[in-house]
Amino acid sequence: RFITFEGIDGAGKSSHIEAAAEWLRERGHQVRLTREPGGTPLAESLRELFLHRPMDGLTEALLVFAARRDHLRSVILPALAAGQTVLCDRFTDATFAYQGAGRGFDLAQLGQLEAWVQQGRDPDLTLWFDVAPDVAAQRRAAAREADRLEREDIDFFARVRSGYAARAAAAPARLVRLDAGHPIDTVRQAVLACLAERC
Ligand code: C5P
Repeated sequence: RFITFEGIDGAGKSSHIEAAAEWLRERGHQVRLTREPGGTPLAESLRELFLHRPMDGLTEALLVFAARRDHLRSVILPALAAGQTVLCDRFTDATFAYQGAGRGFDLAQLGQLEAWVQQGRDPDLTLWFDVAPDVAAQRRAAAREADRLEREDIDFFARVRSGYAARAAAAPARLVRLDAGHPIDTVRQAVLACLAERC
């Protein structure tokens, strides 16, 4: 199974992905933990460019999908073919939320790139950690995260959040919304309950 973890920065998805991996391993799954943008040497190099070089929206979208193509063919598809459970920190929903809803890149064009690069290989399950942008901002401030984030305002993350909501509405069977505004233990229980039901 191919499971992705999504949400705005500060939603807490990265700590929950670790807990999910441990829980699945205890139940006998062979887990492959990976992330986007990145997950292969080439895609990690593209991530560095993407994070640190200013570029326009189309370049950003093409770079993210180029990284995804490499990640799919060298890591995700072979792991799934070998029967492993792939847990990926962000995937295409993040592209629609960040590059699309957040930065205004054309959603229909993103859809074309999605179809071209993925050829129908969607995640089997996506956990969307949904939290209000102001709560996420407080968490990021507490964790002192990257400079890049400080340039983005609450409005940007509100748009990204609405981008996730639109993706969830379009794929309700795949995308499960978890209220990440709750305390971390409550959210973890919700994650594990969802995995118990779906894996
Ligand atoms: O999830 P992670 O912390 O690894 O993401 C790194 C940075 O890249 C974050 O600031 C995130 O907002 C940004 N990002 C983005 N567009 C994507 C994926 C991530 O702007 N499609």
